[in-house]
Amino acid sequence: MTDILSTYVSPITQERRITTAIPGPKSVALQKRREAVVASGVASALPIFAERAHGAIVVDVDGNQFIDLGAGIGVVTIGHTDAAVIEAASKQLTELTHAMFTITPYESYVRVAELLAEHTPGDFAKKSVLLNSGAEAVENAVKIARSYTRRSGVAVLDHAYHGRTNLTMAMTFKAMPYKTGFGPLAPSVFHAPGSYPYRDGLSGADAAARTITYLEKSIGASDLACVVAEPVQGEGGFIVPADGYLVALQEWCTANGVVFIADEVQSGMARTGKYYASEHFGLVPDMIITAKGIAGGLPISAVTGRAEIMDAPHKGGLGGTFAGNPVAAAAAIAVFDEVERRNLLAEASRIESILKPALHALALKYPIIGDVRGIGAMIAIELVQHGSLTPNPAAVAAVAAYAAQHGVILLTAGTLGNVIRFLPSLVISDELLADAIGVIDDAFASL
Ligand SMILES: *Cc1c(COP(=O)(O)O)cnc(C)c1O
Repeated sequence: MTDILSTYVSPITQERRITTAIPGPKSVALQKRREAVVASGVASALPIFAERAHGAIVVDVDGNQFIDLGAGIGVVTIGHTDAAVIEAASKQLTELTHAMFTITPYESYVRVAELLAEHTPGDFAKKSVLLNSGAEAVENAVKIARSYTRRSGVAVLDHAYHGRTNLTMAMTFKAMPYKTGFGPLAPSVFHAPGSYPYRDGLSGADAAARTITYLEKSIGASDLACVVAEPVQGEGGFIVPADGYLVALQEWCTANGVVFIADEVQSGMARTGKYYASEHFGLVPDMIITAKGIAGGLPISAVTGRAEIMDAPHKGGLGGTFAGNPVAAAAAIAVFDEVERRNLLAEASRIESILKPALHALALKYPIIGDVRGIGAMIAIELVQHGSLTPNPAAVAAVAAYAAQHGVILLTAGTLGNVIRFLPSLVISDELLADAIGVIDDAFASL
C-alpha cells in the first residue's frame, strides 16, 4: 500500500485528527480578515483554512487533520504534494518559469501534447492546444469546432457543467449560482435533454433518440458545430448515462458533420480507472478536454483532437499568455509518468471496490440514499425523501456539515443539491477510506 504514496517524506501522518472546535481559532481569525477583503461572491464549502496537505490528508491552520474525499474537486488525483510533481515543478522553476509558447516555444509543451495524443482514445493523428483552466479549454474547443465546421451552434446536455466564463456559463445548466444576474449569456448555446437513468428511467437508445430529436427539430444539424458532453457528469451529480447513450449520440454527430467533444475536465486523467471515462463507454470523441487532474494541482488544461479538426483555425488563432506554462507542463509530465510507474489506474478501481459496497450497505441502512453510482474514484450517492424521488438537499447539507466537524472533507453536487460525491486521491489508503465511511455512517445516524 505504501508504494502508491508519494516518496516525498512529509511530516503529515495519513490519519484523521481533530483537536479544536471546527472551525478552530486561527480559522475563525482568518475568516474575519477574509470577510474584509475577499469578494463575497467567492464562497467556500468548509469553514476551515488549509495550511498543508499530503497524500489524502489536509491539515488546517489549527493543526486539525482532515481526510480529503474531494481532492480539490478531483485535482490532486495522485495525492497532495506528490514527490514527483514537487521535483519536476521545482526544477522547472529554476530553469524556465515562463517563456510564452507563442514567442519562444519549449519542449515540455510539446511533450505534454505527445502524452495527450498517446493517452486519449482513438488511433488517429491527434494534436493539442494547452490552456490554463477547464473553462478556457472548453471555450477553445468550441472555437476550433466552429472554425472547422463553419457553423455556430453549440449543444450541451441538461445538468452539464462547463465553467464560469461568459461562453461556458451559458453552456452550464444550473442558473444558481453560475448564471443568475450575470447575463447577457452567449448566444447559439442549446441545452438538450440527456440521460439520467435514476430519474428518467430511459434506456440509452431511448434517451439518445430524445436528445437527437431535440437536436434535429429545435436546432437543426446544419447549424450545429458541436455537441459537448461530459461522459460522466461532474457538478450535475456524477450522472452515468445509460448504456449506449453516448455512442448513439456520437454516431448521430458523425453522420451529420457535427464535432463530438467530450468534456473530461473532471472525469479524465485516471479518475475512473482509465485515462478517460470515454473508454468505459467505447467512446472515441473527436475532441477531448483535459484539466483538473492533469498536473497534480498546477493550473494547465488541454484540448486534444483529430489533427484535421485541431488544425482548422488560422495561424495565431489560438494561444494565451500563461497557456501551457512550463512549470505546470513539467508537473503534467510528472503526473503522466507517475500514473504509469505506480499503476495508479488500478487504484481507482480499488477505491470503487471499497466505496461501492460500503455505500450500498449504507443505502440499505438509510433508505434516503436513493442511488449509488459512478465509476472508479468518481462515486456518488443521491439523497431523496424516503420512498420517493423527491430530492433531499437538507440531508446532504447536514451529512457534509457533520463530516466536516468530524474531520472528513465531503463534497456535494447535483442540479438539485442532493448528491454527495466521492472523488478522493487515488493514493488514499483502505484504512482512511474505512475511517471516512465510518464517519459518514455516523452522520446519517445523527440525522
Ligand atoms: C471544473 C470543470 C470545468 C471548469 O474548469 P475550471 O478549471 O474551473 O475552469 C469544466 N468542465 C467540467 C466537466 C468541470 O468539472
